[in-house]
Amino acid sequence: AKAQGRDIIQFFDQVINARHQQRHQYEEDLRKAVDNNALFVVYQPRFDISGQHMRGAEALVRWSHPVHGAVSPAEFIPIAEASNLIVQLGRFVLFEACKQASAWNADGYQLGVSVNLSPRQLHERDLVKDISRALSETGLPPHLLELEITETHVMENIDQFLPLLNEIRQMGVTLAVDDFGTGYSSLMYLKKLPVDIVKIDRSFIMDVPGDTDDENLVRAIISMSHSLRLRVVAEGVETEEQQQFLCNLGCDQLQGFLFGRPDSVTQLKELADQQIAT
Ligand code: C2E
Ligand code: CA
Ligand code: CA
Ligand code: CA
Repeated sequence: AKAQGRDIIQFFDQVINARHQQRHQYEEDLRKAVDNNALFVVYQPRFDISGQHMRGAEALVRWSHPVHGAVSPAEFIPIAEASNLIVQLGRFVLFEACKQASAWNADGYQLGVSVNLSPRQLHERDLVKDISRALSETGLPPHLLELEITETHVMENIDQFLPLLNEIRQMGVTLAVDDFGTGYSSLMYLKKLPVDIVKIDRSFIMDVPGDTDDENLVRAIISMSHSLRLRVVAEGVETEEQQQFLCNLGCDQLQGFLFGRPDSVTQLKELADQQIAT
């Protein structure tokens, strides 16, 4: 029995070591990708409630691993977070997105761009400097940039972040709370947070209409947000029934596969041209 126990322990050690090594390898590969500009950004459109007018797009980072192919950001963002790589990665996405939105703007498309900020970046001393440099170097009007922060982290440390968030907002940049409803959340915190937009997490949108609890939650989030003069974006909208339901509740904007998947710039432009034509 003793020997067997030892075998099991050895087996676990091997598995854990292998996983650890794989993660380490991934981190190394990711570091190279960041250094060599092997990451790229795709854009998912965001529409007004009618689904007729594109209002902007969310920048989402992509990584094509030389051996394993496309790696999901759900997989590599946490790795980048755990190391300090996220700061460099985040800066890259921020500049890329601003450059892109500035080009759209120059072409006559009034499209805003949303960029995800990871918690780690909020601790970065140079964040404000990075943002203002991204704006000035690309010539993007600040009101066309939106930064998405996840509620969990910020809300747990709300007082610590208030000065920073206020500073960003005073630059004219829009702030959004991402994944709203997940994790440590209370509608009361929305009152304290200097934000403009609430993005309802996809997990709440998934089963509406139909799931009464989720229906009530979505209704409550929208009406509470509106009473705080915040705009509401629903993410993960995949069906016309969901769109109709959200429209009836007065949701402001929609994002999801129903309107467009994260895609290349060319694809997004075609989508924008389509609606100008109609
Ligand atoms: P997120 O910020 O909540 O982004 C939305 C995710 O939902 C995207 O996944 C998008 O492809 C997916 N999505 C959008 N509409 C639908 C839909 O209708 N149905 C379904 N099933 N999914 C939909 P993606 O691109 O894989 O990104 C996953 C997460 O990785 C993001 O979640 C975000 O937290 C993180 N991420 C992506 N890019 C960046 C980045 O540049 N910086 C940081 N810090 N995080 C990023
Ligand atoms: Ca987001
Ligand atoms: Ca989200
Ligand atoms: Ca989400």
